[in-house]
Amino acid sequence: MAIAPTSVDYEIVIGLEVHAQLLTASKMFCRCSADYAGAPPNTHCCPVCMGYPGVLPVINALAVDDTIMTALALNCSIPEFSKFDRKNYFYPDLPKGYQISQYDIPLSRDGYLTVRYLDQDRRIGIHRVHLEEDTGRHLDRGEASSERYSLIDLNRAGVPLMEIVSEPDMSAPEEARLYMEKLRTILVYLGVNSGKMEDGALRCDANVSVRPHGQTELGVKTEIKNMNSFRAVERALAFEAQRQINALRAGEVIHQETRGWIEERGITVSQRTKEFAHDYRYFPEPDLPPLTISREWVERVRARLPELPDAKRQRFEREYDLSTQDAEALTAERPLATYYEAVVTATTSGELRARAKTAANWVLSELKGLLNSGGLDIAASPVSSGGLAELLDLIAQGEISGKQGKEVLEQVFINGQGSASPAAIVAREGISQLSDASELARAVDLVLAQNPKAVADYHAGKSNTLGFLIGQVMRLTKGRARPDVVNELVSGKLGASS
Ligand code: ADP
Ligand code: MG
Ligand code: ZN
Repeated sequence: MAIAPTSVDYEIVIGLEVHAQLLTASKMFCRCSADYAGAPPNTHCCPVCMGYPGVLPVINALAVDDTIMTALALNCSIPEFSKFDRKNYFYPDLPKGYQISQYDIPLSRDGYLTVRYLDQDRRIGIHRVHLEEDTGRHLDRGEASSERYSLIDLNRAGVPLMEIVSEPDMSAPEEARLYMEKLRTILVYLGVNSGKMEDGALRCDANVSVRPHGQTELGVKTEIKNMNSFRAVERALAFEAQRQINALRAGEVIHQETRGWIEERGITVSQRTKEFAHDYRYFPEPDLPPLTISREWVERVRARLPELPDAKRQRFEREYDLSTQDAEALTAERPLATYYEAVVTATTSGELRARAKTAANWVLSELKGLLNSGGLDIAASPVSSGGLAELLDLIAQGEISGKQGKEVLEQVFINGQGSASPAAIVAREGISQLSDASELARAVDLVLAQNPKAVADYHAGKSNTLGFLIGQVMRLTKGRARPDVVNELVSGKLGASS
């Protein structure tokens, strides 16, 4: 992981602009499918998203819903009135010569997101969340300059794109990464974005400046464009902040510019001097009606907001008495949290908090271990929440030992859903914890008879030989005995024979 540049004389200021593709079925302003990944080039296009003259865009209301929902989750306020604007620039993958975006009246403003950094909950301001359209893609081909050409694929052109702009509130590359991770978790929880950074569904432009400690005005920033991994964001910011600090120390000035991150070399390079808003000649999109967002609309969307990760984590800590660490791990993904709660609800043996704690351990270690080794995520788990609950109840009731439980879990996991349930496997294979008192008593007697020295040591005051003797009984009974019962029996016999 990248090391945050430390500097006694300068502090770092970071603000992120994150672009997130929405998961709507159709594009932002036409009826083409937005699910373009894997489709042959230029098959998800129509005159609207290809920018033919004379066509009329129509607003995708579901994309507006998703943006309002995101804004609410990020504690933003939603104005009663919003509009779309044209951002004019030329690029081969922008067939219209402009992008429909939002300029001065975005769909939302002034929210925040909380990240845990340096053991503190820090509020990072959200400047705005607005809605725009994605551009197409162009692929550069050809080695020699005489053979170079570009391929244009317009499948992505017009896919709904949300832009989430933070305030310059972050103070370190690590904090920026945590913000980005938290934002991704929230977007995936809301179901508005796939979270697939590797596919470009979530991309980050990172702005960074440095200033001498104590200076109130911000330093000149540079912007690092289009990174699609958390690691890239953190490493690029660390490099860039250090580059700026070195430059200032050497008496140079920082120029506002756009830079690119070269992953293989671990450096940022200048791409172009920064353009300013007036370069884009923004003006209101004349082909779209302004948006009036009634309070009823906002409330309808608010009613659909799911419980968010922070709230869920806190509830798990409170209701189930879980450690912050376990609660955090279980709520990192919504399907995992749902699965976990289903297990807890389905178990019946024991008091709620005890069941919840056991379920947390089994989900996070045993089940997750199996899932990871199979490269599966929880949605594809061959063990249902009901199956795991059944297994945990068998253990809680003393029917089988924890060790046997792990073996049964593995069997269910390998054979998959629809095969025998844990209870059926236990019955079929005659797996049971040895609780037959006479059989166990015979095993204890045998172990004591075979280990006279340990027994004598015990009576001579070396109480740690007790553990050894219990271990011998467990071995003799091949782990089928309940350790607590064995302990009682061995201690009892030793006491009686003293
Ligand atoms: P621009 O018009 O250049 O895009 P904005 O003011 O809209 O700049 O800000 C874009 C992003 O850059 C925001 O996320 C903001 O928090 C961040 N930002 C602005 N000024 C600075 C600065 N001096 N240092 C670091 N980040 C900054
Ligand atoms: Mg910018
Ligand atoms: Zn189209």
